[in-house]
Amino acid sequence: IKKQLMKPHEVLASLEYIFQSECSLHNINFISSIEEVEGSIFINETMLKQVMLNLLRNAIEAFLPEQKNKEFQLECKSEDNLIKIIVSDNGRGIPEEIMEKIGTPFFTTKDKGNGLGLPLCKKIVEDHEGDMKVTSEVGIGTTFEISIPIKY
Ligand code: ADP
Ligand code: MG
Repeated sequence: IKKQLMKPHEVLASLEYIFQSECSLHNINFISSIEEVEGSIFINETMLKQVMLNLLRNAIEAFLPEQKNKEFQLECKSEDNLIKIIVSDNGRGIPEEIMEKIGTPFFTTKDKGNGLGLPLCKKIVEDHEGDMKVTSEVGIGTTFEISIPIKY
């Protein structure tokens, strides 16, 4: 795959507009905190955006229909020699027994899900020498943290 050196905040800034409009469409409060970091990451922009859109989609689908104060957060910062891109929602959360299975191809808890979103995210992140971690608490929300090494 074709990759180029890019500043993470440039990639994310071009996603902010989509995130903002999708969130307002679904009555979700969008909070964005994107640090302008020194380093660049070596990425395929289209693929990284696809990861972010999959995570946004999952977050939108994670809210209970009657839920109030829906929130979706996007954060980007540098830590050690890594760029961390973090998305979190305060949706329904993931029960422990489900947590072990997510990211397995075709595993879904949705009527119309295909269970391919997270496997694709994982694959793309790994193709960028990166790592994706998830933490979640039922009734509190879910956080996905992507780490990609900084290449100057
Ligand atoms: P799909 O969205 O088609 O179900 P994914 O691979 O994207 O497939 O997600 C797999 C499963 O992980 C979902 O069905 C859902 O149970 C769980 N999941 C993913 N993201 C979240 C989230 N933000 N909040 C709660 N559950 C989630
Ligand atoms: Mg999905």
